[in-house]
Amino acid sequence: MKEKIKAYDNVLDLIGNTPLLRLKKITQDLIGNFYAKVEAFNPGHSSKDRIALHIIEEAERKGVLKPGDTIIETTSGNTGFSIAMVSVIKGYDCILAVSSKSSPDKIDMLRAMGAKVYVCPAHVSADDSRSYYQVARRMHEEIKGSVYINQYFNELNIDAHYRTTGPEIWEQTAGQITHFVACSGTGGTISGTARFLKEKNPDIKIIGVDAYGSVLKKYHETKEFDADEIYPYRIEGLGKNLIPTATDFDIIDKFVKVTDEDSAHTAREISKTEGCFVGYTSGAVMQAVKQLAEEGEFDKNSNVVMIFPDHGSRYMSKIYSDDWMRAQGFFDSVNTEETQKIEY
Ligand code: PMP
Repeated sequence: MKEKIKAYDNVLDLIGNTPLLRLKKITQDLIGNFYAKVEAFNPGHSSKDRIALHIIEEAERKGVLKPGDTIIETTSGNTGFSIAMVSVIKGYDCILAVSSKSSPDKIDMLRAMGAKVYVCPAHVSADDSRSYYQVARRMHEEIKGSVYINQYFNELNIDAHYRTTGPEIWEQTAGQITHFVACSGTGGTISGTARFLKEKNPDIKIIGVDAYGSVLKKYHETKEFDADEIYPYRIEGLGKNLIPTATDFDIIDKFVKVTDEDSAHTAREISKTEGCFVGYTSGAVMQAVKQLAEEGEFDKNSNVVMIFPDHGSRYMSKIYSDDWMRAQGFFDSVNTEETQKIEY
């Protein structure tokens, strides 16, 4: 009898079950054991593949989506790419309203995956008619048979991570995880993963990472929305200027803030020490772990798991461009050979 050909049916079968990587060099001066769940191993190169597949399949199960229907979303890029990828396989149209803060390479990638992209101004309020929220909402109203993913306010975003990311980490760490640290944007990753982990062991500490210029940390501490916290920052996908209902604030023990500059340098350091090419928010979560270690959060028995949400290739014109780093002033305080321009 002929042996069966070992092939996946389509790229959707490759979503999830991402590897847990032990970090050694970048953490060599820190006390504790450190691991990263490297979400770039998803076929769409980010953790957002998980929510795109789950939300779309739930809509199919409920009979809301039929072949040829349209899926609409607001996105910083990653969720859009994942929705576009799932739409290709399942035969849906994909319309994405994105912020002008997203890197040009991310926007081109969405178009390459067949999505129709509308670029909306980044620095207008969420209720401004030009904001990507309002553009997406209007299109959802106008296009019959369309589904609005609405990741910031969709409970299924949490559920996707509750069903996949949480159990994977529990199994990969053989239940020995002590701390879970993750960037919070929609909050789906941290909330869903934490919900599963805390059910298994309520002592696991859950730490969210927020940006300076975002309201999440202050809201967690005071339960009040403080508009004075809001100002523009550079990291994409982390922090927010509104309170997402996809964040379960009660399950998060505390938030840590990180700067754009530290996060950029730390992302670059991860590539150069661990050989793992990661995005801006992976730098942010690693930076947060360094700060926590300095504050004495961990001891030698701590097993700290962090999420590296996406791949470095999406940031070639940003943190991996020396010119961009220099233009932000991110090389002003460091004097390494990196800061010297090499002419070819
Ligand atoms: N990192 C990146 C690069 C992202 O795009 C996002 C999603 N906005 C996050 C981190 C945060 O994940 P979540 O939305 O699940 O909080």
